[in-house]
Amino acid sequence: MRNQSSVQAGCAEYEGLLNESQVALTSWATERAEISDRRGRGIYHELRLLQGNFLKAWALLQDHKRDCEMCQLILTMEHRYTETHEDQVQRPIYH
Ligand SMILES: [Zn+2]
Repeated sequence: MRNQSSVQAGCAEYEGLLNESQVALTSWATERAEISDRRGRGIYHELRLLQGNFLKAWALLQDHKRDCEMCQLILTMEHRYTETHEDQVQRPIYH
């Protein structure tokens, strides 16, 4: 690993799971976007599989986040960081 000034090292396993679920989500979304061009029963079956893949990856990610000490620590740190920042910085106005 390179020397990074960032305090948060992160959890490699979490990053991996996150990446997997994002890949699964992307292929699901892509397939869903193309569905209007390719009608047929096959595509729905395929979509279900892709959705299942994503949900599985997502569930693994949630399970990991709940059980991993490293992730718990990072979450706590991020939470504190966000809270202090919200005190200092004015909230942007959303339309
Ligand atoms: Zn973790």
